[in-house]
Amino acid sequence: MEFQKGAILILSGPSGCGKSTLLKEVYKHIDDYYFSISTTTRSPRVGEEHGVDYFFTSKEEFEKGIQEGEFLEYAKVHDNYYGTSLKPINEALNKSQLVIFDIDVQGHDIVRDKLNSIVTSVFITTPSLKILEDRLKSRNTDDIEVIEKRLKNAKIEINSVDKYDYFLVNDDLDEASKKLVSIANITRIKASLFDKELCVKDWLN
Ligand code: ADP
Ligand code: 5GP
Repeated sequence: MEFQKGAILILSGPSGCGKSTLLKEVYKHIDDYYFSISTTTRSPRVGEEHGVDYFFTSKEEFEKGIQEGEFLEYAKVHDNYYGTSLKPINEALNKSQLVIFDIDVQGHDIVRDKLNSIVTSVFITTPSLKILEDRLKSRNTDDIEVIEKRLKNAKIEINSVDKYDYFLVNDDLDEASKKLVSIANITRIKASLFDKELCVKDWLN
């Protein structure tokens, strides 16, 4: 799979580290982006909307999507399926948009394999595991067994940091979101240089 247009920014990090909160801040300062809305078999949390936060679906429908080759990538995370549909990503990349993914480390590896040349990635986490636990508890959206599963997974996921281009600690929200805006901007600048031959041709004219 080769793309000369658009760029992909992947955010990964333990559930509860603040990816969605950071993105809400970042969107105030960037434009011409497309946030990839994932499909999942997990149940919606209070306040989450179908088609905004996720496309919520059944296990049967998701597995049908897998059979039909609908997904650019998918993975089982905390016992549920999560996946990125290929079609809207192709459309956004063809429009030269900055495509933003919030996906886990397994999804990151798959997208890297398929589209490495246009990927920039950031691993986001809290200052400590204890703070992650506090945030998951104070978010008050998951029961204790679910939180424990997420913390267990976080201890495994943190070992993948070296596969990422950037490591971001979301301590002070304002500071972390400013850094993420810088990364989003540099990802776009990098994308403008993908077609080096065209850059040289334009320069010579
Ligand atoms: P994720 O999308 O990574 O699962 P969320 O964005 O839902 O995480 O954030 C988890 C919880 O942590 C939320 O209650 C959110 O308000 C809080 N939070 C996010 N960033 C910070 C921060 N920098 N400082 C303190 N609390 C934060
Ligand atoms: P949550 O249930 O907290 O919204 O998400 C749980 C985990 O699934 C997070 O690590 C999130 O990044 C990941 N995730 C969300 N959507 C996708 C997706 O489409 N693909 C993959 N591989 N992971 C996803």
